[in-house]
Amino acid sequence: MTETQERAHQERSLKDDIREIVADEGPISIERYMALALTHPTKGYYTTRNPFGVEGDFVTAPEISQMFGELIGLWAAEIWTLIGAPPRIRLVELGPGRGALMADALRAARAAPDFFQAIDVHLVEASDLLAEQQRQALRDSGKPVTWHKGLDEVPQGPAIFIANEFFDALPVRHYLKTAKGWRERLVGLDPEGELAFGLSEETEPYIKAKAEDGSILEIGAAAQRLMTQIAARIVTENGATLAIDYGYARTAFGETLQAVKAHQFVDPLAEPGQADLTTHVDFSALARAASSANARVHGPVEQGAFLRELGIFQRAETLKRNATPEQAAQVDSALARLIGDAADEMGALFKVLAVTRRSVKEAPGFAPAGAEA
Ligand code: SAH
Repeated sequence: MTETQERAHQERSLKDDIREIVADEGPISIERYMALALTHPTKGYYTTRNPFGVEGDFVTAPEISQMFGELIGLWAAEIWTLIGAPPRIRLVELGPGRGALMADALRAARAAPDFFQAIDVHLVEASDLLAEQQRQALRDSGKPVTWHKGLDEVPQGPAIFIANEFFDALPVRHYLKTAKGWRERLVGLDPEGELAFGLSEETEPYIKAKAEDGSILEIGAAAQRLMTQIAARIVTENGATLAIDYGYARTAFGETLQAVKAHQFVDPLAEPGQADLTTHVDFSALARAASSANARVHGPVEQGAFLRELGIFQRAETLKRNATPEQAAQVDSALARLIGDAADEMGALFKVLAVTRRSVKEAPGFAPAGAEA
C-alpha cells in the first residue's frame, strides 16, 4: 500500500473493513468477528482504548478493590508452597488490563519473602496501549516484568497463571440446530449491506449434540485450547492456574455473546471495535480441557465463597482499622460487591477454577478435591 492508501485504510472504521471482508470472502464466523473486534492490531477494542472504570465501559474486580489482587497474591504464595516451592517460578498474568491485580498481588506477596524472591513476572497482553499502563502500574513493584503477545511466547518452566476476565474475551463459535442439522451462525450482510447474523449453507456433521430445533450451541474453542495448553505445561513443568470469570458451571444450550459500551448493553454487530464483546465462560468445558491434559481441577466455586475462604473479611477489617469513616464505608461497599451472592451479584455470577498437577489434592479457597482421583 502507498502511504495515502495506508492512511485511508487507517481512517476507515473497522465495521467498513469487516463489511469489505464479508463482501469479498462471504460470511465469516463469529470467532473471526470477535477476534477482529477485540484485538485487531490498530482498530480493535482493546488495542485502541482503556475500557476500564466508571468513565470506561465496565468495572472489574481488581478495579473495585485492592483486596482482590492482594488475596490472589497470597493465594499464589500458598499454592507455590503446595507445589513444592520451586526456587524459580514465573508468575504469569493473562490479560492484565490496567495492571491493578498484579500490582496488588505483588505488594501482598512481599509478606511471603521466599515466594517473592522466587518469582519472575510475565504478562500476556495483546494491546500495546494497555501494556504501557501495566508498565506504569508495576513501576515500583520491585520485580522486572516481561511482556508477551500470547501464551506461546512465555518460556517453558514452572509457572503460576492468573486470569481474571480473560477467558470471556476469547472468541467463540455459534451453531444453530435446524431441521436439517447443526448449522454455524455467521456474520454476513443484509440486503441493505449492514452486518447481520445468518447461517452457513452446510450443516456440521461432527456436532452430535441432541437438541430441539432452534437450540444454539456456543463453543469456546479458543478458551478450551488455551486451557489445554496451560494444563499440559503444569503437568510437565509444574505450576498452577487460577481462572476467574463470569460464567456457568455446567454446559448448557443458548448463546451469551454480549456487547457493552459505557455500562450499557448494545447490539454486538453495531460498532465492532467500539464496544466490549464477551461471552459467559463455560467452566465445565475448561475443566474437561484441563482434565484431558491429566491435570487436577479444583472447583469451579463461586467468587464469593472463594474470597471468603481466602479471608476477605479479615483483610477488610485490617484495611478499616486505619481508615477514615468514609474510607471504611468504601471498603464495606467494595466487599459487598465482590462477595455478594444474590443471583445477580458478582460473588455468585463469577466462578473460580484452579488447575494443578494431580498430586496436589487441595488448593486454597476450594473445598478439598474428591477422594476418587
Ligand atoms: N484482568 C483485567 C482485565 C480484563 S479485560 C481486569 O480484571 O481488570 C481483558 C484483558 O485481556 C485486557 O487486558 C485485554 O487487552 C486482554 N486481551 C483480550 N484478548 C486478548 C488476547 N487474545 N490475547 C492477549 N490479551 C488479550
